[in-house]
Amino acid sequence: MIESKPRIASVKEVAEELQRRSSFVMVSHVKPDGDTLGAGLALGLALKKLGKNVWYFQQDSVPRNLRFLPDAELVSNELPQAAREDALYVFCDMSDWRRAGDLLPPVARENMLDIDHHLGNSLFGKLNFVLENECSTGSVVMRILRELGVAIDARIATCILAAIMTDTGAFMHSNTTPEVLEVSAELMRLGADKERITREIFANKRVAATRLLGCIIGAMRFAHDGRYCYSYVDDAMLAQTGADGEDTEDTVNVLLGQEGVDVAALFKAIEGEIRVSLRSSGRLNVQAVARLLGGGGHFRAAGLTFEGTLSEAIVSVEAALVAQGL
Ligand code: AMP
Ligand code: MN
Ligand code: MN
Repeated sequence: MIESKPRIASVKEVAEELQRRSSFVMVSHVKPDGDTLGAGLALGLALKKLGKNVWYFQQDSVPRNLRFLPDAELVSNELPQAAREDALYVFCDMSDWRRAGDLLPPVARENMLDIDHHLGNSLFGKLNFVLENECSTGSVVMRILRELGVAIDARIATCILAAIMTDTGAFMHSNTTPEVLEVSAELMRLGADKERITREIFANKRVAATRLLGCIIGAMRFAHDGRYCYSYVDDAMLAQTGADGEDTEDTVNVLLGQEGVDVAALFKAIEGEIRVSLRSSGRLNVQAVARLLGGGGHFRAAGLTFEGTLSEAIVSVEAALVAQGL
């Protein structure tokens, strides 16, 4: 039998599936951000209001700046037996289930719901609700909550607004459409604590993080007539400043923010792994660049994990950028 290509589910199908099931595991991606976690927490909180059982699985611990989110204290990388039996696993904000990490127990496709906004999602779920034009998975979840008719309380609203603000860079990125601002206004009216989100996620930088930014700026290089800016961070820089991997989160945007820069890359050689963050001003599709090297993401923000040395990573990424028209 020829299997038909998976298609994008309708919001009605998703809501019906959520109504039908009684137990859920909300799954976020490795190196979690406010979108994967905020989206999962928002949907989890709403499902609990409908009387459902909800667990939260995330391989990595909750980053310091996201611990204020409601229910974040319930997030774990272990699941009780009850959650393993007939739960629906809801993957938020990942183009493939493998982004959940190796600690996730095996899950049958029948029990996978894929909620996302990445380009090139592998449509791995029984149902795939992937809206590439949405700014965030949080706003995709908002559509589902409306269809479910569940009352959005202040805790849920805070999780969704945190997701939106994470992926729009606090409303600065080009994915901030009028609709994004409208839904954000609605979330604020529902009680979302914007001030707290701003403080916890975007302000409050640790001194160590600022010192680390100094190192990264010190190592900054420009190429291709100043259109490409890249830098790196390694274990020695972390040790020298007292910072950790979490403190590298949005530094790549500083590189992209330099005058004349079209593409920025930050190479993170941390604990034996090389992860690369790519950002584009909009001229070049960095998702296509990342995909050439086994990663993924969006047109203007993408990433990958590189097998090899730091200098090999720098050479390979530059070659992939050139192949995409840098
Ligand atoms: P980051 O630079 O880590 O903030 O990631 C930017 C975007 O690329 C996010 O949407 C990620 O989900 C995506 N991304 C990062 N690393 C990978 C990877 N190894 N594979 C697929 N997508 C990735
Ligand atoms: Mn994410
Ligand atoms: Mn996202």
